[in-house]
Amino acid sequence: MKCIMDYLIDELDITPNFRKKQIFDWIYKKYVDDFEEMTNLPKELKAKLSKEFIINPLKIIRHEIASDQTEKFLFELSDKRTIETVLIKMKEDKYTVCVSSQVGCKVGCSFCLTAKDGFVRNLSVAEIVAQVLMMKKVKNFAQNKSLNVVYMGMGEPLDNYDNVVKAIRIIQDEDGLNISPRRQTLSTSGIAPKITKLAKEDLGINLAISLHAVDDKLREELIPMNKAYNIQSVIDAVRQFPINKRKKVLFEYLVIDGVNDDKKSADKLVKLLNGIAAKVNLIYFNPYPGTTYKRPTTQKMEEFKNYLNKKGVICTIRQSKGMDISAACGQLRQKDKDGL
Ligand code: SAH
Ligand code: SF4
Repeated sequence: MKCIMDYLIDELDITPNFRKKQIFDWIYKKYVDDFEEMTNLPKELKAKLSKEFIINPLKIIRHEIASDQTEKFLFELSDKRTIETVLIKMKEDKYTVCVSSQVGCKVGCSFCLTAKDGFVRNLSVAEIVAQVLMMKKVKNFAQNKSLNVVYMGMGEPLDNYDNVVKAIRIIQDEDGLNISPRRQTLSTSGIAPKITKLAKEDLGINLAISLHAVDDKLREELIPMNKAYNIQSVIDAVRQFPINKRKKVLFEYLVIDGVNDDKKSADKLVKLLNGIAAKVNLIYFNPYPGTTYKRPTTQKMEEFKNYLNKKGVICTIRQSKGMDISAACGQLRQKDKDGL
């Protein structure tokens, strides 16, 4: 059966037009997931819609809350596959949703747990949009409460290009979730031609690049796809990307102890970012059973950061959230119902 969240409002074949607005309103502002509850629609229309569409493709099968208030949701999809979505509590009453775009991932980064199960499938538009909607519904957030959305969950968003771009549009649509593209950040491991394509859509979203290494040999070891799209090709694509004047391109740099945390790397990074409105976000490597990589000490991390700052690079350290429920970066993966 079709899912109504797969469609932009203009794509729905329903007349008159104001009915579409009413339906979107019920779904995206009132979080209703049964057509029968849409009390201002005529009976026949409700019946027709119920026959044709489902509303929400996600079923919550697990909800965990970490000691730092980070929440992790395990959702079951219609084919029984599972994905994880993370809700991170920021300062005051601000929240960031970390959205998944695929079940598994093809890129196969050596440090990432999501990749260990291989690639299963792309998420549909509805499965992406519904992750954000579900956060608002479960938390009972007001319809006008805006969240930040980061495409940093399971999967490589640019490898599911069409669905992710359409989901961004529905999430930003005033009739949809109405979350400004300036509050949405897409993170990619660096599929250079897709970054160029995305630039042309002019969506107004923020871009994050998982850089992690400054020389191609090491980056190939960490992100095998670097063989096809090397560092220079990624940087060239980034230079073409339209970024709001007040914003910067985020470069994520996963710091692995003894692998990429030396001064020479820092110097190369400074050179590489020269002339780009860039901000570097250092991420602690989060270990998992079976990995040989190590998490750097706080002191090493601070040193690396201070060194970059001294050289004029804007740089922050990402505080790992949700460690005690495995909700931190790189710790998301498919799970069965028992969460194993
Ligand atoms: N596939 C995209 C989107 C996922 S983002 C991308 O790679 O950019 C997930 C972020 O978590 C990436 O920056 C990734 O490099 C980081 N990550 C993956 N494994 C990690 C680990 N074990 N510890 C810390 N960060 C990790
Ligand atoms: Fe895929 Fe990103 Fe994990 Fe690499 S880090 S395997 S691109 S999800």
